[in-house]
Amino acid sequence: MDYLEGLNPEQKAAVKQISGPVMIIAGAGSGKTRVITFRVAHLVRSGVDSFNILVLTFTNKASREMRERITKLVGPEAKNIWMGTFHSVFSKILRVEADKIGYPNNFTIYDTDDSKSVLRAILKEMNLDDKLYSVNVVLNRISAAKNNLVSWIEYQKNDQIQADDISSNRPMLGTIYQNYVQRCYRAGAMDFDDLLFKTNELLKLYPDVLNKYQHKFKYLMVDEYQDTNFSQYLIVKKLAAVNENICVVGDDAQSIYAFRGANIQNILNFEKDYPDLKIFKLEQNYRSTQNIVNVANSIIANNKEQLKKNVFSEKENGDKIKVMRAYSDNEEGKLVAEAIVHERTTKGLKWNAFAILYRTNAQSRSMEEALRKLGTPYKIYGGLSFYQRKEIKDLIAYFRITFNPADEEALKRVINYPRRGIGDTTIDKIIVAADQNQVTPWEVVADPTRYLPGERISSSVSAFSMMIQGFQVIARNKSAYEAALHIAQHSGLLKDLYEDKSVEGLNRYENIQELLNGIKEFSEREDIEEKGLDVFMQDIALLTNDDNDKNKDADTVSLMTIHSSKGLEFPQVYVVGLEENLFPSQMSLNSRTDLEEERRLFYVAVTRAQSKLTISYATSRFKFGTLINCEPSRFLDEIDAQYLDLDLTAKQPANNVGSLHYDERSAWSRTDDKFTRPKPKATTAPPVKTTSILAKAHVVSASFKVSDTSNLQVGMQVEHERFGFGKVISLEGNKPDVKATIFFKEIGQKQLLLKFAKLSIV
Ligand code: ATP
Ligand code: MG
Repeated sequence: MDYLEGLNPEQKAAVKQISGPVMIIAGAGSGKTRVITFRVAHLVRSGVDSFNILVLTFTNKASREMRERITKLVGPEAKNIWMGTFHSVFSKILRVEADKIGYPNNFTIYDTDDSKSVLRAILKEMNLDDKLYSVNVVLNRISAAKNNLVSWIEYQKNDQIQADDISSNRPMLGTIYQNYVQRCYRAGAMDFDDLLFKTNELLKLYPDVLNKYQHKFKYLMVDEYQDTNFSQYLIVKKLAAVNENICVVGDDAQSIYAFRGANIQNILNFEKDYPDLKIFKLEQNYRSTQNIVNVANSIIANNKEQLKKNVFSEKENGDKIKVMRAYSDNEEGKLVAEAIVHERTTKGLKWNAFAILYRTNAQSRSMEEALRKLGTPYKIYGGLSFYQRKEIKDLIAYFRITFNPADEEALKRVINYPRRGIGDTTIDKIIVAADQNQVTPWEVVADPTRYLPGERISSSVSAFSMMIQGFQVIARNKSAYEAALHIAQHSGLLKDLYEDKSVEGLNRYENIQELLNGIKEFSEREDIEEKGLDVFMQDIALLTNDDNDKNKDADTVSLMTIHSSKGLEFPQVYVVGLEENLFPSQMSLNSRTDLEEERRLFYVAVTRAQSKLTISYATSRFKFGTLINCEPSRFLDEIDAQYLDLDLTAKQPANNVGSLHYDERSAWSRTDDKFTRPKPKATTAPPVKTTSILAKAHVVSASFKVSDTSNLQVGMQVEHERFGFGKVISLEGNKPDVKATIFFKEIGQKQLLLKFAKLSIV
């Protein structure tokens, strides 16, 4: 069995355990994804029909990569394996079964923008205050309900939810939820959460359908299981109920999607659901150097809620973790870009050996600017998808309405684009008439004399409806490319863009060409039978920026949020913006649970690195147009200082940022009084516990006071904000980089960097 040679004994055992329930909960980089990949190959090689295997991954990219690897191991059979994200796999199944739950098979998938637009219309109709009922809040509430399989009927019945809604001054949420669901249903549209919610409904209401898929998917595997929500958990549980050949892999320490309903309990429940479960432990990290693994372990050890794991690396110690301090976000970008250029030249690496990871998308700007200045090629992952651009969405809206005329959001988007003289008043009348007559707006458009008797309706409305009906005929009879081109031309969209000679206009025109080229390629593909435009359209709403990557193999530095770096690895990783209120984010400071999720996020970031990890922070940063002072993140304080290599010699700032001087306590302050940080007073006041954002603001200054430990001497008693009381055993290094080894009563010995330590002398 040569093909299993690249596995250690424990991994091999997990791969070979092909029947019955299997769970692998193991630390980052221990080969969980590799085990799934080899396990699938092993199933196929052992004679399991590849059509009977279902693998659920977290991103489309992950499933593409996995399929490539499996193809190398088993050949073209790999093509038949069902593999993809929950959303893409179950939207395919819903396309086949939709009529059973009252949806058309060519239902539209509403993206977040569509959902928000529907909600805005509902809030307007209901005359609700859009500050109290902000679209984002309402959408989150509906999404959370769906992910917990709470229908609008149950939502309205549930006293507890009602009480919560009333106490939060939003008593109408249940009605909004109901209207939203009914609107989407009328439009023949499902939003992202519906793809899972409706799958559950389908499997619950139709035992024969459930039975069909239970027998089809004889073998199930789920990667990144720690980030499944209740809706996903239940789908998997139901599908696996007959054969129980289910293998899930995950790492509780990497659960970072609780804010989207992911539930770590799913891992714990798994054991209860399958008493015969076989659990495999993988302890060796094959990805990273020992220093990186040790740092990761020291970070996650600060979380109370975690399954104990042993993770070690047998690789070399490697470089220590470099910490860089910048006096501003722009300077941070510059330091990171320069470090990358330097590392690449001295170590002979390629650009794609480097990744820059950040907490929030907004941080990419300073990084991009700095990379551009140095002529460094880079690519931002997870940014605005190609399919999210306005012009692309416009043309796709024409396609959508061609196949599903009930699609109200598509109709609203294109009925007067390009301009054809159908004003807002007319559109409002159409929508109202649709509501009153319980029909779709399209039916009103197609027959205005019936639904809007006595109204003077522009002849453009009829012309529009004739045009769409013409598109429907073409789409039925022509190839995807011919139909798409016809629609782009005859809708007037191509001409409209062509006539816009601005740079942006040109760009938009090129994007449409690009989309048409993509459809042409699709029309000419030989590996698929159905090549209509409707088939091309099916998964578009689920695609992300990364899926449309023409230059997949281009040699570029990768920029992405930590959330999107899940499962990936890079030789060198730069984690930037390690500052209080940014990472951990301000939103997380109110509860231990949220803070622990931020810490897991930091753990994910750190464990992406193979051979070198660099962490940076800025002491000031522009936020909403104002320059603010920043404190180093508490996470820096938590890293065992023996693994750190500090480079805190930020260069002198450019003159135009005012004159700054270096303050011994890691703060740059401006001498022109604009944002000088208060000088710390020597004090031994006890640290204030974090309870709320307001209290946190207090802690920032309080902890600054107590961390003034310049008089610290061996033998002194100290108190640390979290580690409690301890005694100083030794001090080493020079100011301002003094490291103290302290024996804490509760947790034992720890080495801390005084600069970051929230320490007071007692
Ligand atoms: P994460 O938790 O980040 O998703 P993971 O547990 O899924 O990590 P993998 O991505 O499967 O880990 O593996 C990490 C790296 O270690 C990969 O480069 C993989 O090829 C390598 N690796 C895993 N197991 C072995 C092994 N037995 N021999 C050699 N390399 C291995
Ligand atoms: Mg993985």
